[in-house]
Amino acid sequence: MNLIFDAHLDLSMNALEWNRDLRQTVSEIRASELELPAHMKGQAAGVVSLPEMRRGGIGLCVATQIGGCMKPRSFVANWQSPSQAWAMTQGQLAWYREMEEQGEMVQINDLESLETHLQRWQDPTAAAERNEPVGYILSLEGADSIVTLDYLDRAWQYGLRAIGPSHYGVGRYAMGHDVHGGLPSHGRDLIRKIDELGMILDMTHLNDQCFWEALEMFQGSIWASHQNCRGIVNDPRQYSDDQIKALIDRDSVLGVALDVWMVVPGFVRYQSHPAEMQITLENIADHIDHVCQLAGNANHSGIGSDLDGGFGTEQCPCDIDTIADMQNLETILARRGYSEADLQAIFHGNFLRVLRQAWKK
Ligand SMILES: [Zn+2]
Repeated sequence: MNLIFDAHLDLSMNALEWNRDLRQTVSEIRASELELPAHMKGQAAGVVSLPEMRRGGIGLCVATQIGGCMKPRSFVANWQSPSQAWAMTQGQLAWYREMEEQGEMVQINDLESLETHLQRWQDPTAAAERNEPVGYILSLEGADSIVTLDYLDRAWQYGLRAIGPSHYGVGRYAMGHDVHGGLPSHGRDLIRKIDELGMILDMTHLNDQCFWEALEMFQGSIWASHQNCRGIVNDPRQYSDDQIKALIDRDSVLGVALDVWMVVPGFVRYQSHPAEMQITLENIADHIDHVCQLAGNANHSGIGSDLDGGFGTEQCPCDIDTIADMQNLETILARRGYSEADLQAIFHGNFLRVLRQAWKK
């Protein structure tokens, strides 16, 4: 079993907004939601928990804090003021800390903690049996909760190592992919501050104009944590081949997302069914392959599943019952001619390269 680095999981959101005890098994969590009145998409259909991550060799991930106050208000966590959004993210941080207390997770925030953790997970099967903690790199999805720029210094202190300036709609610092407009001047200040601190800039969710503006002014390490290809599903949420090539030129990595509306054309949320459309991990491999073909190698594609990021099995490939099933990508990619070295690069090596680059002394 290969180690999987998952570059995008909203773990604390699931714990605190969906009331999921992620120490339970996936089936226990589903069972606990059966009795509730139906009120959320993905209810009783989640696929992520810490035991399942271990079982699937997902020993390391990027885990988010998420809280915005974008306009217009959207279905994602959305507050009236930056202060409320900040408070939300601090609650999420407290949950990660509690998981550390319980020995379930461990924060990875520098080269030393990264290499120590990789030693622990060198043999993922054995690590899972030993119940090793799942490592997490803390990232902020949408920067609205950064009340003023000096809050970012505090965030660095508590371990924040990556940040995506926008989410949906009009963000305080950058525009989401569903609206037009460039970076406002304080958004440019934020990008400079991210650079200064040595945080990783997450390009996912930026609209095209902000993408190009941010790319031009930012010098440091970048990634697109959960990002699929416009060449396969034509939507502003996805990246064009030119954007993908620009990321490749910066030695960056795109994490393939498993939310199926971003995977195959014609999937209509709340209407289509992955099984009826026969959407499987083969379709996920198409996005990985698209990036690899543009690069001419396997050095810029990774996994950023976004599983349980506001959806459940109703919007997952139909051969995903839990997050552990992502391991089946190995057979699919091998059948397509990917070598063992390519597989390791895609499963974890490429994102590790970006981290080591960002954190080198
Ligand atoms: Zn997202």
